[in-house]
Amino acid sequence: MDFRLTEEQLAVRDAAKDFAQNMCKPGVIERDTNQQVPIEQLKQLGELGFMGMMVDPKYGGSGMDTISYVLAMEEISKIDASVSVAMSVNNSLVCWGLEQFGTEEQKQKYLIDLATGNKIGAFCLSEPEAGSDATSQRTTAIDKGDHYLLNGTKNWITSGSTASTYIVIAQTDVDKGHKGINAFIIERGMEGFIVGAKEDKLGIRGSDTHTLLFNDVKVPKRIG
Ligand SMILES: Cc1cc2nc3c(=O)[nH]c(=O)nc-3n(C[C@H](O)[C@H](O)[C@H](O)COP(=O)(O)OP(=O)(O)OC[C@H]3O[C@@H](n4cnc5c(N)ncnc54)[C@H](O)[C@@H]3O)c2cc1C
Repeated sequence: MDFRLTEEQLAVRDAAKDFAQNMCKPGVIERDTNQQVPIEQLKQLGELGFMGMMVDPKYGGSGMDTISYVLAMEEISKIDASVSVAMSVNNSLVCWGLEQFGTEEQKQKYLIDLATGNKIGAFCLSEPEAGSDATSQRTTAIDKGDHYLLNGTKNWITSGSTASTYIVIAQTDVDKGHKGINAFIIERGMEGFIVGAKEDKLGIRGSDTHTLLFNDVKVPKRIG
């Protein structure tokens, strides 16, 4: 087996290294100290095609392989983990899931904007009592016919206040345990969705990690 990196992978690594050195390094200490979200860097990552690296180009992605994505993550994480954590969530937790499991309608409405970096995505799983053990989560989404009614609290959500699209994990059938867990797409501004407190973290302080509250959020079953 040949473990050498391909020409394309090496080019991606070099581009990510240049980006990290030239666009992330200047001001990284100040942004971290002041808890300043690296919005400009994330916008530039989108322009570079690094916010949806593995997504099919027909949905606005760069169609790269996983190794290229990891090489880019490594280079950017070495310099500014606040940039790379938001990049990582957008690429792997949000875009990947949407591309793998979303409907065509969902991909057209959400994935293209996320993969091109026009919008930022967040992934909402963790709760006060549910970290590693995701099955302990208490957020519920109750089937109400034409919509689900979402209630719960999520913690430690990267890009909590800057995202536009949120993948929220919730129990639709508590009796079924982990088999009763589903994912929902929530848009910023939906009634009952509140961006709560920001975490004053020890590190990675530039990323906006928030508590999110969902109080009777009506999630329509069909995209409008
Ligand atoms: C900077 C940052 C960003 C984050 N962003 C997000 C986000 O965008 N979305 C999101 O949903 N969450 C996010 N999180 C939350 C993160 O995913 C959780 O912190 C993680 O799942 C661990 O959960 P926990 O903190 O409750 O720790 P716990 O699950 O309580 O774990 C504590 C310790 O116990 C160990 N442990 C746990 N279970 C076992 C076991 N069965 N056997 C042996 N050891 C065990 C763990 O390895 C760990 O060392 C973020 C966290 C941070 C710090």
